[in-house]
Amino acid sequence: MKLKNNMKVLIVEDETKLALSLADHFKLGGHIPEISDTVATAAELVCVTHYDMILLDIMLPDGDGRAFLRSLRADHVQTPVIVMTARSEVSDRVDMLDFGADDYIVKPFDFAELEARCRAVLRRNIGASTTKDLVVGDITLNPLTAELQTPETCFTLRNRELRLLEIFMNAPNILFTKDQLADRLLSISETVNENTIEVYIGRIRKKLAGSSTRIETMRGIGYKLTSS
Ligand code: CA
Repeated sequence: MKLKNNMKVLIVEDETKLALSLADHFKLGGHIPEISDTVATAAELVCVTHYDMILLDIMLPDGDGRAFLRSLRADHVQTPVIVMTARSEVSDRVDMLDFGADDYIVKPFDFAELEARCRAVLRRNIGASTTKDLVVGDITLNPLTAELQTPETCFTLRNRELRLLEIFMNAPNILFTKDQLADRLLSISETVNENTIEVYIGRIRKKLAGSSTRIETMRGIGYKLTSS
């Protein structure tokens, strides 16, 4: 896929087979796909992490993709969105563009066409990205490049570390239980358990050594990011 590397793609689709084959396809292209099969999960994921692209189904078990899209735009989330629509819904395309979709594609589609549309949408969006660095205390995280700047050095985080630190940096001083963190890191193709969370917290802590910003353990309850 001739798209920039390591693109984070959120696939909002309740047809598991389609969702998984899209995810496989993006993975093969060197990207980081995540799947949500409901509006509720998608909304939560979008709150805690940055995506480069969202592929959005319309008929979802708990709601309408268009309403979700409208709420994203109302919240000033400018992530490019391509709506994946059934042929019977094509008359809705004006609606979709009105709701803030960047493009739409009619199911069933071939992946080459989807890629072409992704490229076109991303080209239009170059420079339009509103992603800002996250800053807490003496650390700065760029969600687009996954670069973490600490007083001592600069790291490039791997996907799960990035996601976890983003959750904390978007809500400093807020306590998260392990369950909450696991839910927010969850994607269909991968299970995240409490031990995994500990491993990632440990890795982030190593990187924050020497910084006055740290992840505190509230024993038996969870974690929070603090800065002194
Ligand atoms: Ca559907």
